[in-house]
Amino acid sequence: MGTVLVVNSGSSSIKYELLDPASGQVHATGLVERIGEPASHLRHTHDGKTVELDDPVADHGAGLRRAIDLFGEHGPALSDAGVVGVGHRVVQGGERIVEATLIDDAVLATIEALSPLAPLHNPANATGIRVARELFPDLPHVAVCDTAFFHDLPMPARTYAIDREVAAEHQIRRYGFHGTSHAYVADRSAVLLGRDDLKLIVLHLGNGCSVSAVVAGRPVETSMGLTPLEGLVMGTRTGDIDPAVVFHLAREAGLGIDEIDNLLNRRSGLKGLSGHNDMREVTRLAGSGDENARLALDVYTHRIRKYVGAYAATMGGLDAVAFTAGVGENSALVREESLTGLGFLGIDLDPVANRADASGERIISRADSPATVLVVPTNEELSIARQTRRVAESTRQPNLSS
Ligand code: AMP
Repeated sequence: MGTVLVVNSGSSSIKYELLDPASGQVHATGLVERIGEPASHLRHTHDGKTVELDDPVADHGAGLRRAIDLFGEHGPALSDAGVVGVGHRVVQGGERIVEATLIDDAVLATIEALSPLAPLHNPANATGIRVARELFPDLPHVAVCDTAFFHDLPMPARTYAIDREVAAEHQIRRYGFHGTSHAYVADRSAVLLGRDDLKLIVLHLGNGCSVSAVVAGRPVETSMGLTPLEGLVMGTRTGDIDPAVVFHLAREAGLGIDEIDNLLNRRSGLKGLSGHNDMREVTRLAGSGDENARLALDVYTHRIRKYVGAYAATMGGLDAVAFTAGVGENSALVREESLTGLGFLGIDLDPVANRADASGERIISRADSPATVLVVPTNEELSIARQTRRVAESTRQPNLSS
């Protein structure tokens, strides 16, 4: 059968998971964070046991090497785990990496060349790939891009209304992100409801937030655009904003472009409005009468409602809404407030089911609700592992038959 090692290499962290793509069984998970800082942190979990360490980790190479040591020290031994491939999460695949792709030097160069479109993510993704290829030279390495699911968005949904030549020269289009999650949740929703013709809205509400409209398994709209800044209100990002705010801040406040980038990406959203990017804290404060937190929650859910209405119109109907990711899976309050007043779209939430202390895939609308509301825990690692195994197997075929 074989297992897959999934690596998600961020700017200062590496997350990894060893799992069986067939059964979904997770053999080990881990995290190396604060790479390059004096006190890096490592966590490795296997067989229900977690080890945590505060060792200095100089760079991604050292981080991944340390993670592999942890497999040796605390299990499972990678040499006995039947690893058939390494799956890498890559944020921006651009126009060229539009499906799970075996990584060679040319693919790695493409991922690096796309860095101007994802400066926070692609360089870190590429570093993780380079190091992992050195450490596992005999295994196939596969890139699974966040943008891939949305590559074929219909032209009106992917096109910004700006000068066509400028857009073409600078690769400006709506790419969409969180695609692995949207694809996974859309797939699970179709299975749960036993239908492959669904008009579905997927709400991925985590620290980053995005929404997609999916018709019969194919995305027709999504809220993130050239970068993951567009769309819904997020933990620290504005989501939609009049682009003229940027000119205004430059001209009137004298802010530089990097300061504005930082403001919109890291000091806005829930954090900018309430001082907190964690929805647990925002809802707690809103419940105890904090007006800033209450407004932050209202802006957040108002934006979601607006998108649900817009996407129902885009699809010409609505069969189901699926919530996923940290907030979507866990906050009954956000789900309820986001869907308030949407009965005219056929959404009839069951308040008891919504508030039930449950986890896992579940339906939270009333039995006779014309549109079904679901909670579907996302599993990007499993999706990456499955795609990795598929590519790894297909690349082995010529050898097997020769
Ligand atoms: P993710 O990016 O999917 O890992 O989601 C992370 C976010 O989920 C955190 O920043 C929290 O704001 C949010 N979250 C996790 N658990 C809860 C919860 N029980 N209630 C509300 N928000 C939650």
